[in-house]
Amino acid sequence: YDDRDGKIWMDGELVDWRGANVHVLTHALHYASSVFEGERCYNGRIFKDREHAERLHFSANCLDFEIPYSVDDLIAAKAQTLEANGLTDAYVRAFAWRGAGPDMGVASARNPVRTAIAVWKWGNYYGDAKTKGAKLDIAKWKRPSPETIPHQAKAAGLYMICTMSKHAAEAKGCSDAMMFDYRGYVAEATGANIFFVKDGEVHTPKPDCFLNGITRQTVVGMLRDKGITVHERHIMPEELEGFQQCWLTGTAAEVTPVGQIGDYNFEVGQLTLDIASDYEKLVRA
Ligand code: PMP
Repeated sequence: YDDRDGKIWMDGELVDWRGANVHVLTHALHYASSVFEGERCYNGRIFKDREHAERLHFSANCLDFEIPYSVDDLIAAKAQTLEANGLTDAYVRAFAWRGAGPDMGVASARNPVRTAIAVWKWGNYYGDAKTKGAKLDIAKWKRPSPETIPHQAKAAGLYMICTMSKHAAEAKGCSDAMMFDYRGYVAEATGANIFFVKDGEVHTPKPDCFLNGITRQTVVGMLRDKGITVHERHIMPEELEGFQQCWLTGTAAEVTPVGQIGDYNFEVGQLTLDIASDYEKLVRA
């Protein structure tokens, strides 16, 4: 994936895709001092462009560093990168990290903060599950307590258990894994938030120890605008049996129906389909 044509924005300039490299002593590689965004551009417009740039700044601040480009600079740089690659419909990955420098220990205040933006075509995150309904495994790893990690940040270090959970799920033929939290409540999937439907009302975990996704917030707003009751609350594992529909939300996942979690089955129902299509219309509006 590194050996291809294209341009990547790195620290203020466009560089060749093949040349967008970092040194092996990059602090982030050793200590996960890295934050990132996943965004999608539709018809030449990045959905929630500013919100994503703001969240990147917020995530960096959670990890105790400042991105040396303003939110407006990042917005302009994203547009420049899309244009340089001739893309109007693409996934956008903006990220920042502590680079190589005099500090090779845990502390890294003297190392430069680096920033980059890459864009590429990325279809359905869950492939044909987008229409059929995804099959989810149940992860053995739990989302940790908010006292152990900055859970509102979109930071690389928070994804270690996500990658491990997703690999285990894929080895069982599943698209993803649903994670419980440190208390045993339903949390989210490894890169997407989760929603359930019961008797026409929507239930979704309260984001008190995991990322409150931009898509999640958008979908909660869309549901409430439709007059649908949304309960943001703690969800016990035994409640899974009583839910009729389930879907995932995320920038990459968009709105993806879930057909199965472990031994529990869900229908790809009307509300799920309506929300998926409303979201599709909204991002392309
Ligand atoms: N949770 C996790 C762990 C994620 O990686 C993502 C994707 N960024 C989400 C939730 C959804 O967030 P968003 O809707 O902002 O893309």
